[in-house]
Amino acid sequence: MKCSVCGKDIEETFLGKIRGNYRREKGVLEVVCSSCSRQMTETTHH
Ligand SMILES: [Zn+2]
Repeated sequence: MKCSVCGKDIEETFLGKIRGNYRREKGVLEVVCSSCSRQMTETTHH
């Protein structure tokens, strides 16, 4: 799976879980890597 923000591959754990976050954008489920999601939360808090 690729990050919808930076396009980098997101690692998966051996359980098949991604090292990132899911978010729903206009009804579409997207995945965002942990570094991008951290940046997004920082910007939305400003
Ligand atoms: Zn990213």
